[in-house]
Amino acid sequence: MPVPMVDVARQYQDLKAEIDAAVGAVLESGRFILGPNMEALEEEVARYLGVGHAVAVGSGTDALHLGLRAAGIGPGDEVITTAFTFAGTAEAVAYTGARPVFVDIDPDTFNIDPAHIEAAIGPATRAVIAVHLFGQPAEAERIRALCDRHGLLLLEDCAQSFGASLGSRKTGAHGHLGCFSFYPGKNLGGAGDSGLVATGDGALAEKIRSLRHHGAEGTCRHGTIGYNSRMDEMQAAILRVKLPHIDRFNAARRRNAEGYHRRLSAGGVTLPIERIQGTHVYHQYTIRCPGRDRVRERLSVEGIATGVYYPLPLHRQPAFREACAALQLPATESAARTVLSLPMYPELTEEQLDGVCRQLREAL
Ligand SMILES: *Cc1c(COP(=O)(O)O)cnc(C)c1O
Repeated sequence: MPVPMVDVARQYQDLKAEIDAAVGAVLESGRFILGPNMEALEEEVARYLGVGHAVAVGSGTDALHLGLRAAGIGPGDEVITTAFTFAGTAEAVAYTGARPVFVDIDPDTFNIDPAHIEAAIGPATRAVIAVHLFGQPAEAERIRALCDRHGLLLLEDCAQSFGASLGSRKTGAHGHLGCFSFYPGKNLGGAGDSGLVATGDGALAEKIRSLRHHGAEGTCRHGTIGYNSRMDEMQAAILRVKLPHIDRFNAARRRNAEGYHRRLSAGGVTLPIERIQGTHVYHQYTIRCPGRDRVRERLSVEGIATGVYYPLPLHRQPAFREACAALQLPATESAARTVLSLPMYPELTEEQLDGVCRQLREAL
């Protein structure tokens, strides 16, 4: 029985009537950019996250980039982050002219290790980007306290953690800026690219609103050189249909993670470790697996898709490695060699979980 990594089309089938009606209404309206759906989604997401402001933008990478720009990060500045993440996290820093400074991760959670952040702070440090990797919140409360102590800005990269919480608050509500992606494969995904910045700071929100729309201030006045990075109405309309279902989707992911846990706890692989007081939303179910590449190949022959996030950490990527030649990140490098992500989406069935785990045991 073949099992894909994600099944985005399946979710459309579940919500087809509502999505078709919402998209049809956008087409009928003739309003496609900076329209009422985007504004409504901003309010709905701000309320869901419990933050004062939400600004919808063109992608998750843009959410990070415009957030950094709005906060005044630029050439000569350093931004501390993890190398065990998607390239967009560090690209956003590089776009501003600032330098990403990579520090090591906690080997249990794959998230940035606060102790390493503290050690990397220098005179040029201006900000920290904490990534809530695979849907498990990083230690945002501890990192926020550390940032406050050193006068640093905290951005949360919530591209993989929509709906996850830490303590009593959602991810995205702990930092100065919470940056989200609605890329189709994320937990809350559109039918194209878009993203959003959440913030409690009204002045930052206004700057991001201006930056996403060519630096516009009112009509026909451009205060700064901005960008074209707006969420279109089609994406906003689809996301508004899906938002009321996100807690149900995330609960189904958690149920599937428990299903994997039960079936795989007999040993042979290292299972994901939940270390936070809060809710992990399992964007990925990522194990550590001996002989990872061989196991992956065996599963692939049986039609079981798997993913490796991330096989080459950012400090070893051609795009970033020149500035990092002497940098050693042992926990990151070990994770890159051993991680294996299993199929994960809300609609996975018990039979599919059985099939994946049976094949995995045989491959081991
Ligand atoms: C997907 C992702 C991004 C980038 O989001 P896009 O919408 O694809 O630009 C950034 N950071 C992380 C951790 C991601 O998973």
